[in-house]
Amino acid sequence: MKMESKILGILGGGQLGRMSAMAAARLGISTHILCPEEGCPASLVTPFFTCADYKNEEALKAFAASVDVIGYEFENIPLKTIEFLKKLKPVYPDSKLLEVSQNRLKEKDFLNSIGIPTAPWAPCYKAEDIEVTLAKWATSKCIIKTARFGYDGKGQIFHRDNDNIHENWAKLNTEEAVIEGVIDFDFEISAIIARDLKGQSVVYPAALNEHKNHILSKTIAPAPIPTELHEKAAEMVTKIADAVDLVGVLTLELFVTKDGELLANEIAPRTHNSGHWTIDACAVSQFENHVRTVCGLPVGDATPHSAAEMINLVGIEDVKSIPKYLDMPHAHVHLYGKTEARDGRKMGHVTILKK
Ligand code: AMP
Repeated sequence: MKMESKILGILGGGQLGRMSAMAAARLGISTHILCPEEGCPASLVTPFFTCADYKNEEALKAFAASVDVIGYEFENIPLKTIEFLKKLKPVYPDSKLLEVSQNRLKEKDFLNSIGIPTAPWAPCYKAEDIEVTLAKWATSKCIIKTARFGYDGKGQIFHRDNDNIHENWAKLNTEEAVIEGVIDFDFEISAIIARDLKGQSVVYPAALNEHKNHILSKTIAPAPIPTELHEKAAEMVTKIADAVDLVGVLTLELFVTKDGELLANEIAPRTHNSGHWTIDACAVSQFENHVRTVCGLPVGDATPHSAAEMINLVGIEDVKSIPKYLDMPHAHVHLYGKTEARDGRKMGHVTILKK
């Protein structure tokens, strides 16, 4: 009997692509990674690799011809690239979702339009917009974020009482931004959903996230929050996934306010750093579910068999603690094959199962 075997194309060669490629291999699915960076983490674990710019149409054509279906591992892939590939092979999640998640203004507009609450926000195209918004909100503080290409705290400024509005606006160096009210949150959580071609979905229990220097440093899963909040987070992310007819994986980052209210901060149409714990604590990880859903397989069980804590290994200092984790019971060490540690660079992570 012949077994059908698909080839999954993935745009992007970082650690998320690498872990999806590894999950695909376990299912007998080969991956073809396209990324502009030679030696990127995913290229080291995939049978097929194309080193090319995302705008190189010849390379994109050859890439599409060599695969059955295409996914992506980060949201800053040019929209045009996805539109181009879509004409050649199925691409998931759909470009409409990608477009929304690439622009914070469109993202907040979309979230509010389906009844998902966010921090108060206003569009910003010039310094005067900040003045007007602060006066309207009767406050002297806000966070200004570039509409595009922000991640890990980059592309945003916390505007405080005596700051010069014009200077802060100039620092952002953008033409389009969002002004957000400062949320005095208790903690940050994230909920990850996987949804297949038939519309079946699973949601991983929300996880609590702690950041250092704007980069995720620790995830506690499941988040130690009341059941109602877990249910509410799952409802919210399901509402988003259903509204966009998601095929693939989507992450919703949320603030839990001091009053126990949930406010959406960001959506990512992909697997997420705060879901790494699912590799070791669930029968089917976020990465396997990414592969399954994009490749037309049924979505798999997202119930954890253990509670877990995930620690990111970021930069030179964290790399020094690898021997400690290698010796620790119930610790699963994951390294991304990056040959040089630098400040702020995600080198790997450790998941410690709570037995
Ligand atoms: P973001 O790039 O939107 O994920 O923001 C990075 C981090 O900045 C978040 O994880 C929060 O810790 C903080 N932050 C972002 N937006 C707000 C907000 N409206 N109020 C308070 N803190 C925020």
